[in-house]
Amino acid sequence: MITPNIDLHSHSTISDGLLTPTELVSYASQRQVQVLALTDHDDIAGLKEARLMSQKLDIIFINGVEISVTWRKRTIHIVGLNFDESNSFLINGLKQIRQGREERAKKMAHSLGMAGIFDSLDGAKKYAKHSTIGRIHFAQFLVSQGYAKDIKQVFKKFLTPGKPGYVDHEWATLENAVSWINGAGGDAVIAHPGRYDLGKKLYPVLLNEFKNLGGTGIEVMSGSQDPSQSKYFAELAKEYSLFSSCGSDFHGPGISHRAIGFDKKLPNQCKPIWLKWSKIIKGIH
Ligand code: AMP
Ligand code: MN
Ligand code: MN
Ligand code: MN
Repeated sequence: MITPNIDLHSHSTISDGLLTPTELVSYASQRQVQVLALTDHDDIAGLKEARLMSQKLDIIFINGVEISVTWRKRTIHIVGLNFDESNSFLINGLKQIRQGREERAKKMAHSLGMAGIFDSLDGAKKYAKHSTIGRIHFAQFLVSQGYAKDIKQVFKKFLTPGKPGYVDHEWATLENAVSWINGAGGDAVIAHPGRYDLGKKLYPVLLNEFKNLGGTGIEVMSGSQDPSQSKYFAELAKEYSLFSSCGSDFHGPGISHRAIGFDKKLPNQCKPIWLKWSKIIKGIH
């Protein structure tokens, strides 16, 4: 079987990516992506532009979003796919999370101020421009001021638990995120499960809860997790009757582990999530 080039996780300048939705789709086309989802953090403002460009370049476009969730005091990400972007519950839910991001940004700036780094809110906002503000924008500001040599180093020194600039934040509940996505006719997927470090006890608890809430799938392959973990998540997907998804989690050339459309063959026992969308993805298996 030839694996189709399907990438169901990517970011644009609407959240913390470097490319505009139009540039992102052009880049995906150069990389032979056939099916693409744009999944900006807590924001769907880029979907229209990305869909238009996808139509021009003959890419099958899937509506997407990556919702920030707090589960058992941890931040996890839930990707929503193939939903109706005009659904008001989803739109309002995402708006609430973005307001929370503004509040968190003020607290992050305060925390950096305590460490002697001033004016970081204005600095981060210059990078965020009109996008949804996030840690990446603070990271870019800190690098520009010489506090670290690159984005990777900056996250090591700042912006992560226990370091200056990190503040705990209460995101959406798992129940809310799944219900907004399902209510808009979409599919909810656990993003990059390998990044949560939950251990052999808590992963089954998360998957069980997610499945009971109406979750559909799990990213068995992700550009932002170790490929060696895919076997474990493929087994869990089977055990909990979840579909499997794959995506690069591309944020921009040079800042992502994997380029958009990276080689990400799902293990054989997986049920690819796109099998649910046969009407949209005709001829691609
Ligand atoms: P936020 O949702 O604003 O808390 O930011 C989370 C985003 O920060 C992730 O989606 C990544 O884009 C980025 N990020 C988090 N940790 C790291 C890291 N260690 N290195 C580079 N980027 C990171
Ligand atoms: Mn990001
Ligand atoms: Mn994520
Ligand atoms: Mn992502």
